[in-house]
Amino acid sequence: MTAADQPRKIGQATAAIHTGQQPDPATGAVVPPLYLASTYVMDTVGVPRAGYDYARSGNPTRTSLEVALAAVEAGDRGFAFPSGMAAEDLLLRVLARPGDRIGYGADVYGGTYRLLTSILPAEGRSAVPLDLADLAALRATLAELQLVALWLETPSNPLLDVVDIQAVARLVREAGTLLVVDNTFASPALQQPLTLGADIVVHSTTKAIAGHSDLVGGAVVVAADVHLPGRRVGVGGSTLVSDELAYWQNATGSVASPHDCWLTSRGLKTLRVRTAAAGESALSLARRFDQHPQVAEVRYPGLANHPQHELATRQMRGYGSLLTLRFATAEIARAVCENTRLFSLAVSLGAVESLIEHPASMTHATKAGGASAISEDLVRISVGLEDIEDLAADLEQAIALATGTAELPDTTS
Ligand SMILES: *Cc1c(COP(=O)(O)O)cnc(C)c1O
Repeated sequence: MTAADQPRKIGQATAAIHTGQQPDPATGAVVPPLYLASTYVMDTVGVPRAGYDYARSGNPTRTSLEVALAAVEAGDRGFAFPSGMAAEDLLLRVLARPGDRIGYGADVYGGTYRLLTSILPAEGRSAVPLDLADLAALRATLAELQLVALWLETPSNPLLDVVDIQAVARLVREAGTLLVVDNTFASPALQQPLTLGADIVVHSTTKAIAGHSDLVGGAVVVAADVHLPGRRVGVGGSTLVSDELAYWQNATGSVASPHDCWLTSRGLKTLRVRTAAAGESALSLARRFDQHPQVAEVRYPGLANHPQHELATRQMRGYGSLLTLRFATAEIARAVCENTRLFSLAVSLGAVESLIEHPASMTHATKAGGASAISEDLVRISVGLEDIEDLAADLEQAIALATGTAELPDTTS
């Protein structure tokens, strides 16, 4: 066989636009239609025409999205859920049976933290926070703890610490357990954890993938041949994680709606260009405000002073659209959030519009009072696609108002 005979593997941006998005054979419509039907006609008892019988079990619009998600994450199978938390919940229940233990990187999304530390224990499963920066300690802990899976987020939220996925994946494999990466922050445009040795990726598609702040959704993408912990046979009869997820998803009804899937597919098509543009603006803001006299610290993986800057450069295609600013006091941090005009004071991230928030009292309020509580002098910014000069000017005026350094109108004449 010559090289010309080999099917050429398409790139990620091409896959985001074309995989699962073939023109409609019935009409030639370039964009596949949105299938809202809940039930499908059969010509013979029990034999569906095209594999679809009832929309909880399968829907063509959902299939379109699921195959595209699997392609952009370089995975084997994708699953679309009604929210990121629904995806996480089902995945955790499939992986961990009562009595099992999950490890997690300490700096995870507030909702994930709540799921791991309050819902899981109520059902007899436990979760232990781990330091993923200390690889020697992690190796020892993995050997000792018998985890069914390790769960990590990188860059982390809201501190934007970067974890070495490949190094952690190697240790996790050595210990015979599974690695799950919540890839919401970076998105597949910036890193593909399954190509670095992770077994499973989860997403809140609400964020960068859908990208327009107009839906809530989640996803799980599983690599090929990932077996349940200890190769146990799942309740659906298979040892494969993806078979078991499919069985549980249908059995429990945790499926994304056709309309949300359609919008998510639409968002996915522009993910790469949106991510590149927002990342460029984020880097520009990080550089400018790192020099600002009223800003105590800027955390952004693209700055040379970020502790894992080199790792981020190696592991990611860019540095992302999120940055965190630290101010002198909690009061100033809150006042900055309340004085922007373009940046909306709102949770969430990865959308076309820029957002600003106070993690300690908003996204990470579930951690308040705990060992992993977020410092109150931090502000998190999600950079959108507005003109960079408008964004910089807006932040500048909000900081001036919050710190009382705004120039007073000249009344001398
Ligand atoms: C938002 C988010 C989630 C939860 O997803 P929902 O779609 O809000 O349910 C999980 N992980 C991360 C990193 C998130 O940002």
